[in-house]
Amino acid sequence: MPAEIHPRLQPVFDEFLARNPGEKEFHQAVYEVLVSLTPIAGKKPEYAQWSILRRMCEPERQIIFRVPWMDDEGTVRINRGFRVEFNSALGPYKGGLRFHPSVNLSIIKFLGFEQVYKNSLTGMPIGGGKGGSDFDPKGRSKAEVMRFCQSFMTELYRHIGEYTDVPAGDIGVGTRELGFLFGQYKRITNRYESGVLTGKGQSWGGSLVRTEATGYGAVFFVEEMLRARGEDLQGRRIVVSGSGNVAIYAIEKAQQRGATVIACSDSNGYVVDESGLDLDLLKDVKEERRGRLSDYVSERGSSCRHVTNGSIWQVPCDIALPSATQNELGVDDAKALVGNGVRLVAEGANMPCTPEAVEIFTQAGVPYAPGKASNAGGVATSALEMQQNASRDSWTFEDTETRLGEIMRAIHTRCAETAAEYGNPGNYVMGANLAGYLKVADAMVAQGLI
Ligand code: GLU
Repeated sequence: MPAEIHPRLQPVFDEFLARNPGEKEFHQAVYEVLVSLTPIAGKKPEYAQWSILRRMCEPERQIIFRVPWMDDEGTVRINRGFRVEFNSALGPYKGGLRFHPSVNLSIIKFLGFEQVYKNSLTGMPIGGGKGGSDFDPKGRSKAEVMRFCQSFMTELYRHIGEYTDVPAGDIGVGTRELGFLFGQYKRITNRYESGVLTGKGQSWGGSLVRTEATGYGAVFFVEEMLRARGEDLQGRRIVVSGSGNVAIYAIEKAQQRGATVIACSDSNGYVVDESGLDLDLLKDVKEERRGRLSDYVSERGSSCRHVTNGSIWQVPCDIALPSATQNELGVDDAKALVGNGVRLVAEGANMPCTPEAVEIFTQAGVPYAPGKASNAGGVATSALEMQQNASRDSWTFEDTETRLGEIMRAIHTRCAETAAEYGNPGNYVMGANLAGYLKVADAMVAQGLI
């Protein structure tokens, strides 16, 4: 790992490692935050014992459960369900559900840990949590997905509530799945409790802009990073990895702002479209038909090429938006990007850059935004959805998008000012981690030994 933990914090990390053996993604996320706390190590007397930090590395509650369901052939299938309720100092646990075969406790804990600081940074009254399952929705029929969601909620319902824990979507969980989950919650509890889930459909309590929010928010954050350097998005060449919800709406907003998005990817490879991706076709393939990028390529014709082996980060660009999944961008990718003159990197996904890749960007002086800052627009708009549900109101698209823009600008300011205050101007990782951490820590100090 590149940077060093302050010697006063090393015992906290050693204790944490011993308590969470083998959970490498969780180790990585905690390590990054501990390194960022260097400027306050030994300074803030109220945190002198680091008992706050030790508590913050331990989730308040971890729930693991069996999810039995029946496939279309009548075969019984078993998956594992998770909900890690990490920290409720600032509000009810808040964070998405991920359905993907790679899901395990380490991944949910890293995501939950990150979510605590991300949610703190938004300035909204939300704690942090995360959940999901190793269920693989790929190739499953709609009926199978519904039966899985119903079984998942049959256990989850007892742990959640609008004042307790408010799940949303993440990889593999979108409006369709949230609909099945909400329907089952309503059936079991006999309550139309809109605020128990976010990312809902328009007609049943969802907020406008929630679908677009993570991708739009990432681009708003990039605009702030550029503005701080006297630049803008006009005419920039952008590469976005992934082609899910985050990627699609990052592409949309970047195009609206006059940038050219030339590449995106899925698990089978990536597509390069030098004249700019055809977003309508991409949405049709991915959102309507739940298809693959190979379908996009065959329908788009000669203007684009499909690369099925190799890394999307070999494609020269001005701005890189890794928006697929954790640890997708490593050392060789970072070297290729820097070698090709990348000017800025901002994470749309959670922890897509390895620590070694981040170190390469830092050494090269390439501004880099960690996901907990640049992808916070999704959860921030979830908090706006909770506000609308609480007041039984629904806001216009323009109004909600304006608020999202204000929130992203405020997050940028918070990160930039905190980094400068603690002697590391331009270091968004340190700014995000310190600002996020200090707010949660202050609330925990105020609330006693919790
Ligand atoms: N899964 C998203 C994230 O990583 C959104 C969470 C939410 O809206 O609660 O932040």
